[in-house]
Amino acid sequence: MVEVKGKSESVKVIVRCRPLSQSEIQNGHHSSIKMHTERGLVELSNPKEPDEPTKDFTFDAIYDENSKQLDLYDETFRDLVESVLNGYNGTIFAYGQTGTGKTYTMEGIASSADQRGVIYNCFEHIFNHIANSRNQQYLVRASYLEIYQEEIRDLLCKDVGKKLELKERPDAGVYVKDLQAFVTNSVDAIQKVMAAGNANRSVGRTNMNEHSSRSHAIFIITVECAEAGPDGESHIRVGRLNLVDLAGSERQAKTGATGERFKEATKINLSLSALGNVISSLVDGKSSHIPYRDSKLTRLLQDSLGGNSKTVMVACIGPASYNYDETLGTLRYANRAK
Ligand code: ADP
Ligand code: MG
Repeated sequence: MVEVKGKSESVKVIVRCRPLSQSEIQNGHHSSIKMHTERGLVELSNPKEPDEPTKDFTFDAIYDENSKQLDLYDETFRDLVESVLNGYNGTIFAYGQTGTGKTYTMEGIASSADQRGVIYNCFEHIFNHIANSRNQQYLVRASYLEIYQEEIRDLLCKDVGKKLELKERPDAGVYVKDLQAFVTNSVDAIQKVMAAGNANRSVGRTNMNEHSSRSHAIFIITVECAEAGPDGESHIRVGRLNLVDLAGSERQAKTGATGERFKEATKINLSLSALGNVISSLVDGKSSHIPYRDSKLTRLLQDSLGGNSKTVMVACIGPASYNYDETLGTLRYANRAK
């Protein structure tokens, strides 16, 4: 069974599979995934039904457990960031079950040069580009927010607990009222902004892992470029880059959540399915109505999804067979989104 669909220029979906972890290896777990990188084909076998044919999916690109952060950057993210430097909007999402490599892909490991993720690599890309430009003047701003239970919080604000509102203005489009934006002029400076936001993210959290698996973290970089046109007048273009580490996609119902937990779970599932609906209707291209309004996440990113914007979704999966159901869920979600 091969599930293939047409490709869209502006939306790209890729799949990345992390290696088996040390503890998975020690516990004798095996992989239920086969990645045929050159064909973009992922084969998933059902550990409970060894005779069942594999479930096969194809994608724009797939990355196996040996993939390198910089290869992903050069092959799938660089173009998108380049278009942001040229005044377009772009969004990179990491989707998947908790523990499959979303944060590894987005942030990576800062202390290890070749394990730094997309965010760091795009800082370098942006500031290198600026250093090499002659006739343009750039202004780079960074914001960092979190969506938890359909509530928006500014991770760079002193009062992290404050809930922010989404607003819309004809000239500015959809925006978050009172969201801070810090002007940064170096890789170092923007990294400090991110680190400050990450530190705020865990304020008042007893279990940061659990919290990060239930909230969406969005790092926003705005690049403003002023350039003198042939008429001698200065022209300004603004590109926005949204770097989104999504909440874990695991089905919460399975864990027997009740009460507050259940409510929370429904909200996480709601925003992830709203995002899936928006992306698939953009890709499909037939629907005149794109359901941006169905969640804070899609509403907030409305001006960066569709139109001239570029989107890359990285669907992260774990290879171990005990993750079969979640992995199948992620591959189906990703397949629908392309
Ligand atoms: P998530 O953010 O999806 O919950 P993480 O990014 O925290 O998952 O990854 C879980 C663990 O797996 C981390 O220890 C991370 O370093 C490791 N990991 C994830 N992806 C990879 C990869 N491609 N190569 C090596 N280690 C990885
Ligand atoms: Mg994470």
